[in-house]
Amino acid sequence: MRFAIVGAGFTGAVVARELATAGHKSVVFDTRDHVAGNCHTARHETGVMVHTYGPHIFHTQHEHVWEYINRFGEMMPYNHKVKAISKGKMYSLPVNLTTINQFFGTNFTPEQAEAFIATKGDATITAPVSFEDQGLRFVGRELYDAFFSGYTAKQWGVDPKDLPASILARLPVRFTEDDSYFNHPHQALPKNGYTPIVEAILNDPNISVRLSTKFSPKNTTEFGEFDHVIWTGPIDAYFDYEYGRLGYRTLDFVAETSDGDYQKYPVVNYCDVDVPYTRITEHKHFAPWESHDRTVVYHEYSRLCGEVDTPYYPIRRVKEKELLLNYVQRARTATGVTFMGRLGTYRYLDMDVTIHEALGASREMLNCLASNKPLPPFSIDPMV
Ligand code: FAD
Ligand code: UDP
Repeated sequence: MRFAIVGAGFTGAVVARELATAGHKSVVFDTRDHVAGNCHTARHETGVMVHTYGPHIFHTQHEHVWEYINRFGEMMPYNHKVKAISKGKMYSLPVNLTTINQFFGTNFTPEQAEAFIATKGDATITAPVSFEDQGLRFVGRELYDAFFSGYTAKQWGVDPKDLPASILARLPVRFTEDDSYFNHPHQALPKNGYTPIVEAILNDPNISVRLSTKFSPKNTTEFGEFDHVIWTGPIDAYFDYEYGRLGYRTLDFVAETSDGDYQKYPVVNYCDVDVPYTRITEHKHFAPWESHDRTVVYHEYSRLCGEVDTPYYPIRRVKEKELLLNYVQRARTATGVTFMGRLGTYRYLDMDVTIHEALGASREMLNCLASNKPLPPFSIDPMV
């Protein structure tokens, strides 16, 4: 078979590679002039490796995904820690014993802290549905207002009551001094950035890559002869926004360079609503094995994604999911196309989940091909 794969991010690259290994040919298209999608990294004029589309830390509990990424590049041990500024004071996130003791001026042991936070949490919320429910249930009003309500209002531009609890459920609350941002057993950053890893995944004689090329589903023959399209771009774009545009947040990064060190930490979140940016990322701290005299930081601003902007975070409120359902039903009756990845299924996906799902989707497609079954429109249900 000959596939057109739209998007050279982790999804497109992994699927192309798995199909190539089974003898199928692909042309991988990307509008951008580089591979790796939003995980792209590049050397800045200061010499620092920059995460062009925002900070990306690799973390996973999937052993097979960890083995997979290590096949294509050297991963360096890294323990991500985040600081958060609220009302001018710096704390550590996620909320942990040190945060609690500093915030409430206490000297609790882990057991005392847990008992204390249990008195703060709103026990009447038994099954949190919204972001706000989740915050009030698990940390209580004071910590919620200090760290989550302002940051979230800036990040998402909507009332936290309208956001799903799952967004906040990504962050743990701990009663120990462990201030790692993630819980996963494998946590690392690529020694030479993510882009060479994706290039290595795509490096196969059965794969060719066409960059700076916007693939249009209207006239696919313009791009070559293909038996099937794998679409990792926005699902609504494939159908020419027939039912309207799915809502996304986009980000603006304002870069600043200076000598020395800017903030000591890779990421500092600004939780107060009157600070216009959400966080400042100092990229050189993502490569502690390198040494640089100069530094570059990104001030990150979030806003609603317009027609010409890059879609970053899908806003999956009830009304967006209703719109999504129209596209999903349309996709289920379309032929010759499979939708995958973050934009193709309109879900927030971490890199490891992206790779995990792309490997699973490839297996499913190869099984279909082996048993002469049609290829599925999705390999996972985007509505869940
Ligand atoms: P993408 O990387 O978005 O790739 C899709 C590609 O399709 C894009 O390059 C786009 O240009 C191309 N495309 C779209 N339409 C067309 C078209 N018509 N023709 C040609 N090309 C097209 N994950 C983590 O695990 N850890 C993190 O710390 C982390 N941080 C993140 C921070 C931010 C700010 C964001 C937004 C995401 C973060 N992620 C993180 C998630 C990570 O970026 C995604 O998991 C990953 O990018 C998904 O890969 P993908 O291939 O599905 O999509
Ligand atoms: N969040 C917050 N305050 C913070 C950090 C995160 O309110 O200081 C919320 C915010 O709504 C964010 C969500 O928690 O979207 C998940 O945080 P994460 O760090 O996973 O966000 P990402 O890295 O995806 O931007």
